[in-house]
Amino acid sequence: MAYEKIWANDPKLNKTELKKLEKDGLEVLKDIPYYAENGFSSIPKEEWDSFKWAGLYLQRPKKDGYFMMRVKVPTGILSFDQLVTLAQISKDYGRSIFDITTRQAIQFHWLTIENIPDIFHRLSHVGLSTTGACGDIPRNIIGNPLAGIDRDEVLDTRPIVKQVSDFFQNNEDFSNLPRKFKMSINANIYNAGNAEINDCAFIPAAKVIKGERKVGFHLKVGGGLSSAPKLAQLVDIFILPEQVLEVAKGVTTIFRDFGYREKRHRARLKFLVEDWGVEKFKDTLLKYTGPLEGAGEDLTNGWNAGYFYGVYPQKQAGLHYVGINIPLGRLHADDVLELARVAKLYGDGEVRTCGTQNIIIANVPTENIEALLNEKLFEKYPLKPPQFTGYAVSCTGTEFCNLALTETKERMKRIALFLDQELSIDVPVRMHMTGCPNSCGQRQIADLGLQGVLMRNKEKKMVQAFEIYVGGTLLNNGEINHKLKGKIAGEHLPNVLKQFLEYFRDTKQPKETFYEY
Ligand code: SF4
Repeated sequence: MAYEKIWANDPKLNKTELKKLEKDGLEVLKDIPYYAENGFSSIPKEEWDSFKWAGLYLQRPKKDGYFMMRVKVPTGILSFDQLVTLAQISKDYGRSIFDITTRQAIQFHWLTIENIPDIFHRLSHVGLSTTGACGDIPRNIIGNPLAGIDRDEVLDTRPIVKQVSDFFQNNEDFSNLPRKFKMSINANIYNAGNAEINDCAFIPAAKVIKGERKVGFHLKVGGGLSSAPKLAQLVDIFILPEQVLEVAKGVTTIFRDFGYREKRHRARLKFLVEDWGVEKFKDTLLKYTGPLEGAGEDLTNGWNAGYFYGVYPQKQAGLHYVGINIPLGRLHADDVLELARVAKLYGDGEVRTCGTQNIIIANVPTENIEALLNEKLFEKYPLKPPQFTGYAVSCTGTEFCNLALTETKERMKRIALFLDQELSIDVPVRMHMTGCPNSCGQRQIADLGLQGVLMRNKEKKMVQAFEIYVGGTLLNNGEINHKLKGKIAGEHLPNVLKQFLEYFRDTKQPKETFYEY
């Protein structure tokens, strides 16, 4: 090992930590060919968790031996070949389910261990990987889905994202972190990288250095959701584009060496940042990076919440991007192939995934727009979606997830459809559903967050229910939404939401939203 594991002799390490010391998570990659040849029964139960480092989770119920696979898509950029490869994998092995996650990644379900080597082979052929998509390791880097084509970005983050992503890929110096580590690199002025909910976020900034105005980044650290949500805090430094990798390494090293390894639920970077404070964090970081300038001018100017519906000009003259709605981020593989065909016929085949589980088709010349918009695909995946379906987000839930308390994806889809039929409001209402406190559906930043719980009903039967939270945003440094009293049984949720939204519509000021802007 190139570095010393300074925590190795801590007597309070949790069980997962002891296991990681014995065998690094990435080692599972070497075992997978053997397991694939010998079948699911050849995998020892105690090895199941280490599959996460390869981007694989056993789906619910674990004993059936089917895997969920997450493919990393740094800041959501996919070429035609990558999109077609992903669609074909979903069709050949994943019962044609193709899910877009809230971190711009792609998920497959129903895979068997025998399928994995061929899938890895196909992915690597087009430059994609699952390694580090899950596990205690730097995860998929999120950011501006419009990177490089965006009229609202202060610089093109694509080369920086590639550099940082490549550095951490399969890097054994950083494959044993206390928990997952989420990074955002974004230069869009409308906070397209959801900075505040990441462990480490680079946000657009400028500073005059030696008489010259330089554009670069500010840094926020210590954000994260789950049951103890925290918003990332600003560190008083200015980072030039060429310094991003060193800063990312520094932050990750601090987390690796000083992050908590005693209790899993206290192991995220946010707890260390909270205990240290940003001043101490900055002083420690500078020991790794060397001197950096103090913070300059913040260039963030609002929050677009990750929505890009419609046709908009790119920064390249004569080219446009087209934002479409993918209800709850789920597509059939045949529709993905159709999307690829359309993207290639009218553009160059490139698409982008959004944190809102939607898709952007990039690089469409002006003269192709009209013909593109006449394609049948957009009847199913519209540019102007119905109000509630267009702003609904959901995690996986009991359909596949072992930690889920409630069904989510199909339920959220049904509720959004019902609300679209029943009412209309003059502002979008962003609804996020999540099947447990882990909050992969990011309910904390929604106008209306719906968190799955279990409760006893009047007949004392345990039923699926939801807590309702209101007023989340990432505008103006962000605010976590607030819990309303009580829980609503799943079966009553559509009507309760309808009544609640009707009351909001009938009593609100024109253009008033759930958050005071
Ligand atoms: Fe599973 Fe909970 Fe994440 Fe939903 S939020 S996908 S239920 S772990």
